[in-house]
Amino acid sequence: MALYDWLGKKAGLPLWQIWGLDCDRIVPISVTIGINKPEQAIARLKNWQATLDFKMLKLKLGNPDGIEADQLMVKAVRQAAPQSRITVDANGGWSFADAVYMSQWLEQQGVEYIEQPLPIVLDHQLSALSQTSPLPIFVDESCFTSADIPRLAKSVAGVNLKIMKTGGLTEAMRAIQVAQACGLKIMFGCYSDSSLANTAMAHLSPYADYLDLDSHLNLTDDPFHGATIAAGRLLPNHQPGLGVTRCS
Ligand SMILES: [Mg+2]
Repeated sequence: MALYDWLGKKAGLPLWQIWGLDCDRIVPISVTIGINKPEQAIARLKNWQATLDFKMLKLKLGNPDGIEADQLMVKAVRQAAPQSRITVDANGGWSFADAVYMSQWLEQQGVEYIEQPLPIVLDHQLSALSQTSPLPIFVDESCFTSADIPRLAKSVAGVNLKIMKTGGLTEAMRAIQVAQACGLKIMFGCYSDSSLANTAMAHLSPYADYLDLDSHLNLTDDPFHGATIAAGRLLPNHQPGLGVTRCS
């Protein structure tokens, strides 16, 4: 990230411009609600609604109490946010049978896709799941770098790429190119990253079909200032390089 920041500063251009990308293509980010009881999930939803004009919610499922607990949370959030687009990330928390059942049930709830339904040890069942699931299946934990993409390409609809998985922007770009060549949808995600990492990925965001770059919004002491939110979209600025400054 530092090297690309230096490159942009030398050229006097933001990275998205060096790469010839069009920021008008950047889609809204999703904001995340963790595994919770329905009341706590609604409290988090209300908190997001008070903070941000978000367009998309990502619900964390795979509750250790089972898919009945997942269903209670989805129903509660769906009822409280009827207009919002909703996606689901099970973080590998389901069995194959749970995933088959939930894919059908979640489609009826208007959910758009399912991320990492199965644990990575069940990667060999992703193809069969994708054939029965009415919803697109994305992988996250199953895919770290460009090298993981070809073996997954025929089994899933898309991949979740994160800068902390690829190890930097060069490999992130390579993973984007391999995913595109394999005909896969592209999502960008994050861990508990600050504005620094999420801004770096925001420069590549015109390539993404889905964006889940909300972690810095959860930090009370984000040490950096960079990409900003406008109408639910996380947009890099026009400063050279990453356009990130350290908060004083
Ligand atoms: Mg995930």
